[in-house]
Amino acid sequence: MKNEPTQGNKREKSLDFGIVPHSSALHLSGVVKRPGIVLVADRELTEWLAEHATPLSWYSYQSALLNGVNGIYEREIGVGFFLMYQCLDNNNTHLTSNDKDALLYQLEDYISIVLGDLNQENIRQGLGVEVAHLTTGRNIVGNTIGYAYEPGHYGLSQQGFETVQGYRFALWYQNIWIMAHELGHNFSGTHKEADKWCAADFLICLDWKRSLMWETFYDDNEDEFSHGNRNPNHNNRQRVRDSWDRTPPCVICHESRSE
Ligand SMILES: [Zn+2]
Repeated sequence: MKNEPTQGNKREKSLDFGIVPHSSALHLSGVVKRPGIVLVADRELTEWLAEHATPLSWYSYQSALLNGVNGIYEREIGVGFFLMYQCLDNNNTHLTSNDKDALLYQLEDYISIVLGDLNQENIRQGLGVEVAHLTTGRNIVGNTIGYAYEPGHYGLSQQGFETVQGYRFALWYQNIWIMAHELGHNFSGTHKEADKWCAADFLICLDWKRSLMWETFYDDNEDEFSHGNRNPNHNNRQRVRDSWDRTPPCVICHESRSE
């Protein structure tokens, strides 16, 4: 996922939390097939949030993000993610790179240390976790604002903030959209089957629209998967649904990585 970087102000404060296990994880019955997710924050995210207009804890910020993402997935796929763990690299000892590949590897290493290697089926089943997603406050090198395995179990999204009249706010729609996009990659969603269509034209197209797996973020992108209505060969909704129902283990993990 690409965009022009939107960040760049001072960073000061930090919060102090470690892993937050969610007790609701204990009540997983297996009745509803709902992929468990672990959300990871880095020190930089806490520093951004401490300067938010209404300062947010990193874990409540992530919960709000996931609510937005789940709103999309519940509508598109029929079920959203189940929040199993939230982790913070508070000492800044693991998630230290601004390079997308290095940072994704660091995320894998970090999760392997604190929870277990999600590339292993028995680990995923034991944890009840299918994917880990890092919401980073780091400014990833280049125009990249999101990166993930397609398919696979790890992904990350750079959190966007804006400053209005001296007050900092999260770019909620963008941040939710990018996280939903990268999770889409984890479940086999692909740029190749994203749609772009003209919503208004007069001799030329005046207003382009793009579906959720489109490679580049525009603030008027739609938060829906392609589903065969515009191009019968484009159906990311079906791809993700099929992958969602995959019987572990995922047989072609680490096939590729996508922005
Ligand atoms: Zn992408």
